[in-house]
Amino acid sequence: MVTRRQFLFGCAGTLAALSGASFASEYKKINKSIPILLYHRVGYQLDNYTVSPARFEDDMRTLNREGYTCLSLAQVKQYLQSSRSTPLPDKSILITLDDGYLDNYINVFPILQQYNMKASFYIITGMIGEDDRLTASQIREMQAAGMDFGSHTVTHRFLSDLTPAEMKIELTKSKFTLEQLLGKGIDFIAYPGGSYNPQTLTIAKEAGYEAGLSTHYGYEMFHSPFEMKRIPLFHYDRSITYVMLRKGLLPTLLQ
Ligand SMILES: [Zn+2]
Repeated sequence: MVTRRQFLFGCAGTLAALSGASFASEYKKINKSIPILLYHRVGYQLDNYTVSPARFEDDMRTLNREGYTCLSLAQVKQYLQSSRSTPLPDKSILITLDDGYLDNYINVFPILQQYNMKASFYIITGMIGEDDRLTASQIREMQAAGMDFGSHTVTHRFLSDLTPAEMKIELTKSKFTLEQLLGKGIDFIAYPGGSYNPQTLTIAKEAGYEAGLSTHYGYEMFHSPFEMKRIPLFHYDRSITYVMLRKGLLPTLLQ
């Protein structure tokens, strides 16, 4: 009996024979790319940007079962600085959460620890300790347990609406605040609302960032480190399996 997996590989072989090297190079390129997942809130609200704790746990369990390795930001930085010559582990993944909500500590942090996984959290520094947001001590505690942090600016205003001088303050001040809080360099920024323009990228580089996370959809292939693509997970997405199969990921589920 031909399994679904064998059938798909058979089709791939036929395609390769038909299109020759182009298919092989496409396939290789895809294998060098990684999914960067984007979550916001993990709680009980019903809006698009919230997934339930049960859903989040199910997602982590699936990734764990499928043998994904959660990258740290240090690994990504090293990969970029070595011009992509240091190999990343097979089935690497980067899990990111934007906005620094309190539920990241209450619901996300324990689940990540339970599955021995890690994520990076992008903090709006002007909102640290505000109602429903992470506090400074929670951020420090999460860092001590292996979680990573990046900037999500000071005020969460959309960067492409700002003057270069305002953008510079958003990028440098938030970086400085987090570096003071955590005692280490902050190398990554996630642009609020995915909003940026060419000047933003120049200012981010000048401010000393190594990379910027956008909300462009897709695999990240590290060709433009200040415009990294992500795969958002929304309330209405049924599961990570559904989202990643749509992108051709999680191939072992096809067995
Ligand atoms: Zn945001």
